[in-house]
Amino acid sequence: MQNKIIVTGGCGYIGSHTVIELIENNYNVVIIDDLSNSSEETLERILKITGTKPTFANVDLKDEMATKAVFKKHKDAKAIINFAAHKAVGESVKNPLMYYNNNLCSLINVLSAQIENNIEGFIFSSSATVYGTPETLPITEKNETQRPSSAYGNSKKIAEEIIDDVIKASNNFQAISLRYFNPIGAHESGLIGELPSGIPNNLMPYITQTAAGIREKLMVFGNDYPTKDGTPIRDYIHVVDLAKAHVLAVKRIINKEQDMPYEIFNLGTGNGFSVLDVINSFEKVTNSKLNYEIVERRPGDVPQLYAATNLAKEKLGWSANKTLDEMVKSSWDWEQKYRKEQSSKESGSAF
Ligand code: UDP
Repeated sequence: MQNKIIVTGGCGYIGSHTVIELIENNYNVVIIDDLSNSSEETLERILKITGTKPTFANVDLKDEMATKAVFKKHKDAKAIINFAAHKAVGESVKNPLMYYNNNLCSLINVLSAQIENNIEGFIFSSSATVYGTPETLPITEKNETQRPSSAYGNSKKIAEEIIDDVIKASNNFQAISLRYFNPIGAHESGLIGELPSGIPNNLMPYITQTAAGIREKLMVFGNDYPTKDGTPIRDYIHVVDLAKAHVLAVKRIINKEQDMPYEIFNLGTGNGFSVLDVINSFEKVTNSKLNYEIVERRPGDVPQLYAATNLAKEKLGWSANKTLDEMVKSSWDWEQKYRKEQSSKESGSAF
């Protein structure tokens, strides 16, 4: 019998890539998504890639009754992976209550429904933003967390603390938080990838949209940081590598292999690349020039973030495999395929 896993936010960027990996590892997936920043078409794309269409429930997790009802229906699930959240940093600074309301009310409803239905495992989609400005590098899971500068980041930090309290108060629930560094790239099929609504906040979609002619030029936010070329350093990780770590976390929870009821792992490659490294890689793999300009620093950006990856390697048996060039190329392949599909839809021809 296949183990059932509930994936909230399973139509989103990281969620949909994880659903594919789960199906390919023989799990029975139930997606709960309100489609507020994604599309039901993702289900068709998952079907095309895997041959399986996951069960889908269109539920707003802020609705406690609806959340409990859908969990009751799937109370035979072995674990939940909770991706559902708003994630635009700038928007969260302008509208913090919307972020706390959405990201934390939904988390509380999901945890309550989990407890009510005795589903033992919980995996949380967290972020390296909880480390704030790290004092030591690479960042290990032992680094102190700091108050992140955005409401988005702080909602992740508070969420981790809520999970910690809930796990401490129970005897039979387990949780794992996965702290992502900078996810980029897309599925090798080119059928799913990152699709930011409106102007992208993140570097990679901004680069690919600039090259695709949707944005005029990339603004590089500052070149006076204390780094090798003055631009900030991040740990970019391929979304499929990230997705695979979720499958291993599910296995660890289901097989009761945890050392503690609540565990936390960094998910990064351990390699730091500057903004100019990413641009150079893009220009190399696409054999083209990117239109960019160095401008003022973006408030809140830290000079360097990259992960220590030993814990995930030792405990989950996971490490990231893709190189920067491979990651950048897969982002570009997705952007091109998606834009081609959109323009053929507009001109009436089939994809
Ligand atoms: N960045 C940039 N221009 C952009 C978007 C991002 O120069 O339009 C830089 C940003 O300053 C940071 C890096 O790219 O150093 C990664 O930013 P992103 O927003 O993708 O992720 P973050 O690390 O901030 O979560």
